[in-house]
Amino acid sequence: MTIPVGTDLAFREVVRERSGEDVHQCFYCQKCTAGCPTAYVMDYTPAQLLRLIQLGQKDKVLGSLAIWMCIGCEICGTRCPNQIRLAPVMDTLRQMSLEQGYSPEPAVYALHRSFLDNIKLWGRVHELTMLMEYKIRCLLKEYPLFFHGLLSDLKLGGTLLLKGKITFVPERIKRLQEIQNLYEKTGLSGSQEER
Ligand code: SF4
Ligand code: SF4
Repeated sequence: MTIPVGTDLAFREVVRERSGEDVHQCFYCQKCTAGCPTAYVMDYTPAQLLRLIQLGQKDKVLGSLAIWMCIGCEICGTRCPNQIRLAPVMDTLRQMSLEQGYSPEPAVYALHRSFLDNIKLWGRVHELTMLMEYKIRCLLKEYPLFFHGLLSDLKLGGTLLLKGKITFVPERIKRLQEIQNLYEKTGLSGSQEER
């Protein structure tokens, strides 16, 4: 049997260990894909991604759009007959992708980064400042999403502010330092800023 070029069989073991999910158990029934709300924007469906992991196709997996499109909703985990949860698998793959220098989907990465920065700053999410950072990041990188989404977001944001669903002024939590210490421990303190 010929092993395809780019096969890295150690990769699937690493994914299994780091995610805590037994990816070997997948038998490609595609129930996860059928229930996934974002499968339609992925380049590989969740089931296809599992199969690529099993085949040791590291480059395809870590360079895929799919790992950035997962919203961690856990629907796949509730549908899978083998109790495989894709959410922790996707988290692991995103981490590995950044660690190994693959390019993330830029607008999604900007959102992840803005979310993490916001938690680090206030100890919890303050929607308005998080969104402002996200918009600025998009503007600086000239992502098309910025131009498409700005006006609709402004309108929605104004409505939410008026209804008191979000606040204008952020508040820091007590014991913020404990949260910030976690960032230091996990290396999340702006280590990927240059992307
Ligand atoms: S539902 Fe489970 S077994 Fe079926 S394809 Fe998805 S991960 Fe594999
Ligand atoms: S956790 Fe991710 S892969 Fe699973 S159903 Fe939700 S979006 Fe899809």
